[in-house]
Formats: sequence, C-alpha cells, structure tokens
Amino acid sequence: MYLKLHLFGLVFFSFTLLNCQTKLDKQEPKITYKVNKSEEEWKEELSPEEFEILRNAGTERPHTGIYNMHFEDGVYVCKGCGQPLFKSGSKFMSDCGWPSYEAAIPGAIVYKKDTSLGMIRTEILCSNCGGHQGHVFDDGPTATGKRYCVNSASINFINNKRND
Ligand SMILES: [Zn+2]
Repeated sequence: MYLKLHLFGLVFFSFTLLNCQTKLDKQEPKITYKVNKSEEEWKEELSPEEFEILRNAGTERPHTGIYNMHFEDGVYVCKGCGQPLFKSGSKFMSDCGWPSYEAAIPGAIVYKKDTSLGMIRTEILCSNCGGHQGHVFDDGPTATGKRYCVNSASINFINNKRND
C-alpha cells in the first residue's frame, strides 16, 4: 500500500513538473522597447494603414507598396520611430510583391515566432519601437538565403544623396 501511494505521488509530481515546463516553453521572452507609446498616440502619428501594419501586424496588398520596385542608394528606416533597418545594398528584386532584403542592419530587428494563419513564420519587428515590419523566410535567392519580406507602409526611405 505504501509503495503504491509512493508511486502515485511520484507520477503526480512528475506530471506537475511536466506541466510547468510546457507552460514555460510557451512563454515568449518579454521584450522591452525604448519607444513606448499608447495606442492613441500611435493613431495620431500614423495613417490608418500604417497603424494597422505597424501596430496590429497587418499586411499591405502585394505589388501595391511604394518601395516594392524601388532601387535607390540609401537606407530604409522604421516609419514608427525612424530607426535604420535595411540598407539599399541588401535589397533585391523579388516577385513576391513586397520589398525584399537579404539582410537587416545588425541589431535593428527583433525576431518573433508567429503561428497565426495556420503557418509557422518568423515575424520581424523594429527593435526600437516594436513596430511590425513583416516576416523573414529561408528561401532567399542570395548568399544569405534569407528573404526579409517587408511592408512598404512600415518603412521610409532616406536617400544617401540628401546626406551630402
Ligand atoms: Zn521603429
């Protein structure tokens, strides 16, 4: 009898432990951003489309964004906070319908697992304000093998010539 109880206790204890572990695995590490604004403040600064993309992880329709077929020398910055995200040298011609880059500026992007829409994707966000930019995929045609698929509405372009 004692042995049975003991075993039951062990099984119960292991089960509880397992449960805790599963819960821990599911928790995303908490990310803190330098720029923190309320929903109202963002709504004042952004257009409805920009707000939907940057703050609600929306997606613009393919082949509609102003930077999709845009190839000039400069840097693409976050529309939410102005942080430089992608250099023009890393942009490549992609037929997916969104601006595509083979790499991001180091430290500019935060990566988050996204399981929405029945897919497992890696969401990319500005590391300064948490603004949603798009997703990164492993099917890039260049040496990095990466395709940072970005919404035009979540970025601005700064031409290098203007800095002279
Ligand atoms: Zn930002």
